[in-house]
Amino acid sequence: MLMTCTNKGCLQSNEAKLNRRTNEVICAECGQEIGGITDTFKKILDSQGQIIRAESKSMSVQCNSCKKKCDIDIKENKPHCSLCSEELQLSDTFFNMVKTMVEKESNE
Ligand SMILES: [Zn+2]
Ligand SMILES: [Zn+2]
Repeated sequence: MLMTCTNKGCLQSNEAKLNRRTNEVICAECGQEIGGITDTFKKILDSQGQIIRAESKSMSVQCNSCKKKCDIDIKENKPHCSLCSEELQLSDTFFNMVKTMVEKESNE
């Protein structure tokens, strides 16, 4: 179901998703909450499965190269910033956790 984002600088029609933990509707384009969504509409999103899958947003990290919060892209078994594509410096423990989660998601 397409929604139009109300955030300045975005205003894109996109498949926004419901964050069940916070009950916010999040724009798929800019990642910000879209305000003014009624509970009825949130229930529709929920029933259609248009929801943010468990915890995937919490894996974003701060990139040392572009200084922005980014998602982690795995290329050649190394973590890369999803925004500037520079390699990220993550601890092995953390990176292994990320890999496990990514594998789980792609198996869904
Ligand atoms: Zn947006
Ligand atoms: Zn970056």
